[in-house]
Amino acid sequence: MAATVIDGKAVAASVRERVRGEVEELTAELGRPPGLATVLVGDDPASAIYVRRKREACEEVGIRSIHHEPDGSISQDELLDLVRELNESAEVDGILVQLPLPDQIDSAAIVNAIDPDKDVDGLTPISAGRLARGEPGLVPCTPQGIMELLASAGVDPSGKEAVIVGRSNLVGRPVFSLLLGANATVTICHSRTRDLGEVCRRAEILIAAAGQPKLVTGDMIRPGATVIDVGTNRTDDGLVGDVDFDAAVEVAGAITPVPGGVGPMTIAMLLANTVQAARGRLTVAAAPG
Ligand code: NAD
Repeated sequence: MAATVIDGKAVAASVRERVRGEVEELTAELGRPPGLATVLVGDDPASAIYVRRKREACEEVGIRSIHHEPDGSISQDELLDLVRELNESAEVDGILVQLPLPDQIDSAAIVNAIDPDKDVDGLTPISAGRLARGEPGLVPCTPQGIMELLASAGVDPSGKEAVIVGRSNLVGRPVFSLLLGANATVTICHSRTRDLGEVCRRAEILIAAAGQPKLVTGDMIRPGATVIDVGTNRTDDGLVGDVDFDAAVEVAGAITPVPGGVGPMTIAMLLANTVQAARGRLTVAAAPG
């Protein structure tokens, strides 16, 4: 029997609706809308599209979009000054610096300068450390979206065998911490894993985030598994995931498509993170000296 196809667009739409309601409440409590600052440096066309989509999504749910577009020739120090200014700004609850940055900029130094309490991408070492230690904090958007998709499919990771393919700081590692936090037994595979198929076949929850088209074939999937395909690979056949969908759909219990699975979740979770950051700042402001 073919697997249930998890509809990322629908789940993302419901997250956005939830966020819209929270933004309304927060706006009343803060006396201003929550604000997300975006910083776009240089003229990379893909980055410009991503940032535009994020800004539009903010406006749709009532989050104020505060946009900065410094010239591509900006120096490291000038960009650091801008980040510090946003850290200090009372109207800015979240800061997103779109990557990649031009060659003269040390991206890590810029990301590390973001106030962790405004780090809506969850990419600072403090955010990563909090997540790894199971402490509250801002969690990278795509991994958080994956957890929402599992919840929407009625999959509770507790006690289950989960396997992640990929160990990046953006996806694999944060997903590891989230699944561990949800009490799964978690294994991470990567480019040096000896027998990928053998490990993947153990998975009741399989997360593919390797950036390799159709790396995960049907025979690597445990019957009935929930398969989340994070891969977005541009090929001659169009956008292709890391999972061979046509084969996997015959074996899995539930599976995300590409496109229309994980992709739509990322911006929805950015909005949710902005609300979380704004709420965190409200709590700080209200705390007795
Ligand atoms: P990355 O290149 O930083 O990391 C890839 C990881 O996969 C590495 O840890 C590597 O060890 C592992 N890997 C590579 N080849 C492998 C193989 N043959 N066997 C086992 N492991 C292998 O990539 P990333 O940033 O984590 O992104 C992964 C994929 O997810 C990409 O296709 C990316 O475009 C996509 N992505 C999608 C979204 C979204 O919103 N849908 C967000 C982030 C990333």
